[in-house]
Amino acid sequence: MKKYFASLLFGMIVFKVISQEPTAKLEKDGKDPVCGMKVKKGTSLVSVNKEKQQGFCSKSCKEKFDKDPEKYIKK
Ligand SMILES: [Zn+2]
Repeated sequence: MKKYFASLLFGMIVFKVISQEPTAKLEKDGKDPVCGMKVKKGTSLVSVNKEKQQGFCSKSCKEKFDKDPEKYIKK
């Protein structure tokens, strides 16, 4: 029983760390949906939209996307 609570607590801590991760990294090469530039994996300029990662070439592109994701996703 003690072991169960220990693993539950550990799981909660891990989940908390992951959900608060401020520097998500792009998992694979992609394309900036705002300007169309290629984006290399590993960039921290990432937004998640509909459970899909979107990488950006610059902070300004990310900000544009975050304001109106639908506009850039529909294309
Ligand atoms: Zn861009």
